[in-house]
Amino acid sequence: MLELFRFPGGVKPASHKQASSGSPIVRAPLPKRLVVPFRQSATGPATIQVAAGDKVLKGQLIGRAEGPFGAAVHAPTSGTVLAIESCPLPHPSGLAAPCAIIEPDGEERWIDLIPLDPFTTEVDALRTRIRDAGIVGLGGAAFPSHVKTKASIDTLIINGAECEPWITCDDRLMRERADQIVAGARILGRLMGAKRIVFGVEDNKPEAALALRNALGECDSHSCQVTAVPTLYPAGGEKQLIRVLTGIEIPYGKLGPDFGVQCFNISTAYAVARAVLHGEPLISRIITLAGNYAQPGNFEVLIGTPMESLLPLGQPKADTDRMVMGGPMMGFALPDLGVPVVKATNCLLAMSPALFPPPPPEMPCIRCGACTRACPVVLQPHQLYWYARSKNFGKTQEYHLFDCIECGCCAFVCPSRIPLVDYYRFAKSEIRAREKEKVAADQARERHEFRQFREEREKAEKAAKLAAKAAETKAKLAQEDTAKIAAAQARAHPEESNESTKEGA
Ligand code: SF4
Ligand code: SF4
Repeated sequence: MLELFRFPGGVKPASHKQASSGSPIVRAPLPKRLVVPFRQSATGPATIQVAAGDKVLKGQLIGRAEGPFGAAVHAPTSGTVLAIESCPLPHPSGLAAPCAIIEPDGEERWIDLIPLDPFTTEVDALRTRIRDAGIVGLGGAAFPSHVKTKASIDTLIINGAECEPWITCDDRLMRERADQIVAGARILGRLMGAKRIVFGVEDNKPEAALALRNALGECDSHSCQVTAVPTLYPAGGEKQLIRVLTGIEIPYGKLGPDFGVQCFNISTAYAVARAVLHGEPLISRIITLAGNYAQPGNFEVLIGTPMESLLPLGQPKADTDRMVMGGPMMGFALPDLGVPVVKATNCLLAMSPALFPPPPPEMPCIRCGACTRACPVVLQPHQLYWYARSKNFGKTQEYHLFDCIECGCCAFVCPSRIPLVDYYRFAKSEIRAREKEKVAADQARERHEFRQFREEREKAEKAAKLAAKAAETKAKLAQEDTAKIAAAQARAHPEESNESTKEGA
């Protein structure tokens, strides 16, 4: 029995999971069009490999992974690329980015799928397969998974906590496809040399934990185990789950592998198994439709499916007034339902005034300290709020703004109903934008300085060439003058010249 620990702070919002957790995963129908963003990882876009008019097969590479941190993008079905164009993405900033617009042909014709043996294949080849399959963290971070497998660790944690209210996609995946999750975890464990694998599942999902235990079967119980962790939001945060399962407290600026631990979401482990054992790239994921729907449930959805085409599946009720990607704690409102499902989409939450009453007006901070007590990262949320609000971004960084996981615990307990996370997101995006501007300005300055240097150098080279030419001409003229003088003297005194010729003879 594993000793469990507590992380600081945390809150206990109503879970509302029973609304969708009873529904088995259903495959969503093919939409009329898919909008597949080339940027689907936290580290940057893939390089476009197709053009308008191209025919593609299901699983065909359409965006190549670039550099050591890249992640590939694939066609989710067979069909025709209608266009490559910039489309809005599901992101709090509403940013647009290049996407492939694919018209499905309805045939679902796969590329040739090449499975790998997870035990005999070289680890580098397995890592390359994970990268080329476009696998990123499906818990929401969307960080390329192959990069995380480069760590050398003792303990691999498979995160099945799924602590956010309303969301049950991981729960259903564990209940229905536990064998593949366990297989993926073993592959990940082998890649990092993990001595033990711990599946952390919140204790409000007993069926999921049982399914994983059954799937583990003959696995050595000392090296693989399923552990129920107390239901406390955000137990599914990476550092929080590591803390609960190992007691290790990972400080600011450090990561799990610095302490011999690495953490993957259960959906990511599942995707790894599909990629290695079946050769399938990541082209779909499970999404919960929860909240104000007549038929909430879990659906296997192709990446690139416009959110609006999912609505008939869940049937939002008439009083639905907002749609949120993610859960009520960490999600963000979607301004436009034409945006596509991406690898980081785990839930489309329908909200209504009755289910999610609009918050009362924001009141001034009374410095009660409730936010600090609730913060699982031991930040000072009210200080961050003050500095973000006054645009003192330097100070927000001093107070570790970028360690904030945007879990929303602080806003949840704030008696003044201050939307604290909105302030943190604003500050983060401003800092990133300024850093981007600074990098662009530095690059422009460097380009300018180099151009100046090159012009000076060219000027100096030209002057040197002119000087050399002038010296050459001068020497030539002097030589010619000497010859002319000698010739004139010879003409003026031919006998001297003859004498000297004789003497010379
Ligand atoms: S909980 Fe709200 S009111 Fe209290 S200190 Fe934090 S921000 Fe201020
Ligand atoms: S949102 Fe950030 S500041 Fe607020 S509780 Fe979570 S980690 Fe702490």
